Amino acid sequence: MFDSLSDRLGSVFDKLRGRGALTEDDVRAAMREVRIALLEADVALPVVRAFVDKATERAVGSDVLRSVTPGQMVVKIVSDTLTETLGADASDLLIDVTPPAVVMMVGLQGSGKTTTTAKLAKRLKEKERKKVLMASLDVNRPAAQEQLAVLGTQTDVATLPIVAGQQPVEIARRALQAAKLQGFDVLMLDTAGRLHVDQALMDEMKAVAQVADPAEILLVVDSLTGQDAVNVARSFTEQVPLTGVVLTRMDGDARGGAALSMRAVTGQPIKFAGTGEKLDALEPFHPARVAQRILG
Ligand code: GDP
Repeated sequence: MFDSLSDRLGSVFDKLRGRGALTEDDVRAAMREVRIALLEADVALPVVRAFVDKATERAVGSDVLRSVTPGQMVVKIVSDTLTETLGADASDLLIDVTPPAVVMMVGLQGSGKTTTTAKLAKRLKEKERKKVLMASLDVNRPAAQEQLAVLGTQTDVATLPIVAGQQPVEIARRALQAAKLQGFDVLMLDTAGRLHVDQALMDEMKAVAQVADPAEILLVVDSLTGQDAVNVARSFTEQVPLTGVVLTRMDGDARGGAALSMRAVTGQPIKFAGTGEKLDALEPFHPARVAQRILG
């Protein structure tokens, strides 16, 4: 099995830290190890290349090597570059619009989309005192709408009453109308997933977005799926105007590679991390903290 990213980087850094004077070759050798560690952690190749180039340039192109503790400086440069790649700061939800603010959740089946919808609704209700309505637009998976209704009951968040036979766009329209009439602050739309990205799914996302005019379109991806998560993110980015990413199953992700790729591939911030099955297990994503975790 692979070592975790933090183990790999940790051993590279231990070697560096212990050294006094460093040459450019030392730095390049260390960066080769960093590159391997990132690739083994399933970080996408273009992201790895850009990362290593940037960190190498910073380390050899400045006075770092002439400093008193060059090893530590190089470690810091890699750490800072890591934080930057993950996104500079924690990003808030863009819900400061004329209510109802529509938050559309998109992603593949099994990514944790429905659970995350409920987690986020609960968080908005409890932490920001928002009046939230949730609606499931998933007419493909049997019982998907009922699943959201059950989560609504568990979290004490309202869900749109189910009307059999309605299509996603019709449900979105009805949900928006209900949210407006009943004075909800936030409307969360849990869209249908698929096992794989396909054009019908994308067309459905676009049609729903056109009707609902979302303030946020959050892509939910399973961090454990590595390169697949990157490919999914790329497909969605090309077709839907995403505003952010939620990474689920971060509780089981020892390698941390998906997180590192996501920001670069989507160009959007990772806003939240799912850290367990419980409905409280959702945390704002703090790039610096995650960078620290990766570095060990
Ligand atoms: P959907 O098909 O994308 O709507 O996926 P679901 O929301 O139904 O989630 C699929 C499974 O993943 C469920 O058993 C969830 O409890 C679980 N799950 C979702 N998010 C997380 C997470 O952050 N950590 C863990 N460990 N499990 C999660």
